[in-house]
Amino acid sequence: MDFKGKKVLVVGLGLSGFSSAKLLAEKGALVRVTESDRSDFLTERADELIGLEVQTELGGHTEEFCSSADLVVTSPGVDIDSLKFSSIINKEAPVIGELELGYIFCPSPIIAVTGTNGKSTTTELIGKMLSSGGLDPVVCGNIGRPLTGELGKINGKNPVVAEVSSFQLETIKDFRPHVAVLLNIAEDHYERHGTFLSYKQEKFKVFKNQLEEDWAVVHESFKGDPMLDKVKSKILYFNAKEEVITESESPIKGKHNLENITCASLVANIYGVSPEAIRQATLSFKGLAHRFEIVASFKGIEFIDDSKATNVDATRRALESTDKKVVLIAGGKDKGGDYSPVDSLVEEKVKSIVVIGEAKERIERAFSKIVPVIREESLPLAVERAYNEAEEGEAVLLSPMCSSFDMFSSYKERGEVYQKAVRDLIEKAEALPA
Ligand code: ADP
Repeated sequence: MDFKGKKVLVVGLGLSGFSSAKLLAEKGALVRVTESDRSDFLTERADELIGLEVQTELGGHTEEFCSSADLVVTSPGVDIDSLKFSSIINKEAPVIGELELGYIFCPSPIIAVTGTNGKSTTTELIGKMLSSGGLDPVVCGNIGRPLTGELGKINGKNPVVAEVSSFQLETIKDFRPHVAVLLNIAEDHYERHGTFLSYKQEKFKVFKNQLEEDWAVVHESFKGDPMLDKVKSKILYFNAKEEVITESESPIKGKHNLENITCASLVANIYGVSPEAIRQATLSFKGLAHRFEIVASFKGIEFIDDSKATNVDATRRALESTDKKVVLIAGGKDKGGDYSPVDSLVEEKVKSIVVIGEAKERIERAFSKIVPVIREESLPLAVERAYNEAEEGEAVLLSPMCSSFDMFSSYKERGEVYQKAVRDLIEKAEALPA
């Protein structure tokens, strides 16, 4: 596709919009970026684009600025339907996402990893395994490194491992990964996709353009799913049983991580990585921060940071991964989903729940018949409260089941606040006279 002289409107000046705008300018397009928010940080970003002759509007989308575009490139955070309805963009202009734009210019085969949970972990693991096998993968995508920003490192020979979210799949057209990984689909993102079926359809789009010579690596629970009938690529199924390493050897805990490991090893195998190299990469993988990360142990109480658990299924996996009794810290921005899938695990493993954030009432209503639910106003207060509730041999687990945006800028900030609160609490307790 020739972008020279093409009028392109980029919607959103987040990481992917910023990266798309730079790439498009480099390719000779006439680029405008429209962003609904306004902040000092965004102004700085917009200023950086001036040198590339990219125009920017912050603090809202105006018809005057947006309507002349021949092509629209959106960011994953943007709901294109609402944008189209707003009628400020030319209805005839095709709309693609940042992932599709990156794909157009990507000379190497792509391994795309999608699913509700485990994407980042599995993407990183695949990267480690391919490196261990002597390949030189470029790991990117939804993990905070947009594909459009990594193209300089991609030479046509080195494989690309891209974490791909359902929001990104919404706006693909020709995106065709050589390997498409589907880890799992659980309830999430009602606020955007409306129904479970439409969320599932978005996820399955990852296979849409694949051909016979491509691969689909799919969790065995999808065996027999009619949506797989249309998939043209070769399908490999995985589960937690095919052991690359045993559960006790695994540096990352829980059955879900064994699934992630097995899945990654199938992908590495497609690229010719030896079983020994796969094993070594797995043994040296430390896991990612804020995913069931054990951050401290004090007076026999373990503190676990699972801030990335932004849906009920991730918390289910966290509870399954521990044999300790748990004081659970949950809550945040509610996604409108159903909490009942963890009822029996809560009954079995949770001593009490400390709730914070917008979802407080809903979580209290969902669980107060099963365990005591205590409300707190902030995460540091919740940590103190949970510590007082827990006894030796038990764990305090932050696994919120909700996104963080009511109180924090991201799951990462929430996890950092939790970890600091844990350190402060320990310091304070140690300073007390015995
Ligand atoms: P994603 O990128 O899909 O959000 P992460 O690897 O960042 O996935 O993990 C997100 C959350 O899901 C963490 O709480 C983690 O412990 C949990 N998790 C990781 N792998 C799986 C899996 N295969 N199934 C369910 N939950 C998982």
